Amino acid sequence: SGGHSYEGYSLGSVPNNIIINFGKLNHIHVNVHDKIVKIGPGARLGPIYYKLYQHEKHTIPGGSCPWVGIGGLALGGGYGLLARLHGLLVDHVLEMKVVNAQGDLLAISASHESDLFWALRGAGGGSFAIVTEFTLRLVRAPLLVTRLKAVWHPNATKAVMKRYQLLMFNTSLSNFSNNIFLQMSVMKEQITISITHYGPAIREFNRTVSLMLATLPTPKTTNTYQQDWLSFVYDLSDIADADHNYRKLLLENATLPTYEFKSKHLYFDKPISDHSIDQLTRHLSLGSGRLCLEFNPWDGYINTIPIDATAFRHRQYKFGIQFTDYWNHTYDEQRQINWLERIYTSVHNDSTKHSYVNYIDRDVPNWMNVYYDTHTRYLPRNVRCVVLLLFVHNGDQMSFDGKSSLLNGEELHVGERLTSPDEKIYLILQTDGHLAIFRKDDPNQALWKSTIDSKLSNIQGPFVLKMQENNDAVVYDGKGQTIWHTATRCPDFPGLFHLEIDDDEGCYVRGRKNEIVWTSYTGIRCFQEGKEGMSVLDKGQDLYTNQCLVSPNEKVALMVELDGRIALYKRDNYGEPTWQSTITPTVSSIEEPFVFKITDDNNIAVYDIKGQLIWKTNVSCLDGDSRLVLEDDGRLLLHAKDDANIHIWSMKDGSIVHYKSV
Ligand SMILES: Cc1cc2nc3c(=O)[nH]c(=O)nc-3n(C[C@H](O)[C@H](O)[C@H](O)COP(=O)(O)OP(=O)(O)OC[C@H]3O[C@@H](n4cnc5c(N)ncnc54)[C@H](O)[C@@H]3O)c2cc1C
Repeated sequence: SGGHSYEGYSLGSVPNNIIINFGKLNHIHVNVHDKIVKIGPGARLGPIYYKLYQHEKHTIPGGSCPWVGIGGLALGGGYGLLARLHGLLVDHVLEMKVVNAQGDLLAISASHESDLFWALRGAGGGSFAIVTEFTLRLVRAPLLVTRLKAVWHPNATKAVMKRYQLLMFNTSLSNFSNNIFLQMSVMKEQITISITHYGPAIREFNRTVSLMLATLPTPKTTNTYQQDWLSFVYDLSDIADADHNYRKLLLENATLPTYEFKSKHLYFDKPISDHSIDQLTRHLSLGSGRLCLEFNPWDGYINTIPIDATAFRHRQYKFGIQFTDYWNHTYDEQRQINWLERIYTSVHNDSTKHSYVNYIDRDVPNWMNVYYDTHTRYLPRNVRCVVLLLFVHNGDQMSFDGKSSLLNGEELHVGERLTSPDEKIYLILQTDGHLAIFRKDDPNQALWKSTIDSKLSNIQGPFVLKMQENNDAVVYDGKGQTIWHTATRCPDFPGLFHLEIDDDEGCYVRGRKNEIVWTSYTGIRCFQEGKEGMSVLDKGQDLYTNQCLVSPNEKVALMVELDGRIALYKRDNYGEPTWQSTITPTVSSIEEPFVFKITDDNNIAVYDIKGQLIWKTNVSCLDGDSRLVLEDDGRLLLHAKDDANIHIWSMKDGSIVHYKSV
């Protein structure tokens, strides 16, 4: 609807999406007399807030970003600045018009198709039916909004975090009414507390400010202001143009430039321990770039609605943290995500381990439980509709023609094709066992053909291409012999990769973030991610999972593998590593991401996210600094940084040379 899914699920970020654009189904029909509004799913929050405010200062309790679409927002919950006062958007949905999997247009409500109505209020985005209109109950916008924003230097972070938690959990001390909305934003550079109060009588606001600031150091800055509801919402989202004309921007449906970010989210029902706060602040201080932790209250009115009233399950928590980081260049992405993961992990055990589905994160394991908890058991009978929906709207799903990807676990048989999205190129498994790429308008001239291992004899059909669970794409013959493969095996992380044919005439194996792992252009495992072109690693320059050093002649690469080993690859040996590090047998349940680095004692080592040592050279006794170099002939050499003749450790052609002393 509004295209704001964090993972781009409505914008084709996963293979074989069907995109239904609701941009023009964006009507907003207000009925002040009955205190309801009928809204098309493509309407965005900004214009909705604007229009409702023109009707006797009404509003709905929605989100804070004016470009979010009502469709996705309302189906997942709909959390915003009025959540403590009026609850979630799902708590105000009275009726929906939907198209179900059979193609019927239904009006559903608490009294008609109540199961579907229940499921679509909290677990509905892109699943059980397509919503074409929402009928929502209106609420009065607050008469006045008063807000304090106080900002501290990072040295006050721990104290402010503890004070925030004390006020959130010690209700006899804080005694907040639902008019108070207490938020905290933690960044590497500063920590900010925002206290918002709704309503004209501000005694409670003043009391809360005094309570908050009582035991804390003096903030770097404080700013208190009062506004009407609409100005408050618009100013918060920072969307005004140079003439301060946000209304014009919104009503013309203009959009902002896109930016790249990754977000994770957790709910908490008890305070984060002092130990975890220490861990969090330490990890926060170690990264660079823009990363923000937003603490938002999830109690108040939300908690007064019975847990089973809607599919939205998380009604007994105090606050949630949204962890978000941003980057400008693709090559920073992995590093930023690793930083985010470390911070998220540092408080994960203190949390409920549950999360809000509208802050969707494709890396969350066991996602049904994380997003729907005990409500999961009520959802499966409806899930059938999803599958039906796919077939109803895309009748050719059963055949691979018209499909550009071979998903993990799928097979392509002789004569079957994958077709590029522009339908001009196809990949076919031929009767002779070769995979071949053709242009549709020139089926006699293969653009690319797979090889067949010449050492094999007695090859016979029928052949099959399997995108295996271990992430290798393999062509087998009728006797089960491997006759060709992409050499992208990665068994410790099953089900990650898929294979696809692209408009650019290439066939690719791609990872879960769509990164290229293998391509028909080079025919070998790619070294594209990370520090390509960098052949030297100094102390402090960490290398993360999937990143690599590449020799100056680009013929050799050292890669941090998905299973925690480091491995050396040569470009001309068909993708098998020439050397791999081991995994210390004593470590248990290692966890991605992995980091490869020069240690303080001048060894090289691999650690997992939990800080467990996975592999280390353990030979150096050098004082000063060292440097790791990957040379053109494949030698990996650790030497003293200021003297390349002082060798600490080296490895060539699989043979390691240890230097006991330097
Ligand atoms: C900048 C930003 C700010 C945000 N702020 C908030 C906030 O303050 N509060 C909050 O609760 N959330 C917030 N979110 C999260 C937001 O609620 C979700 O991303 C929501 O799913 C977006 O809805 P959409 O229609 O814009 O997105 P879309 O990407 O269009 O849709 C999201 C999902 O819903 C499904 N869907 C959309 N419309 C329909 C429909 N008509 N029928 C069936 N399925 C449908 C899509 O298939 C997709 O899976 C924010 C997101 C962003 C990017």
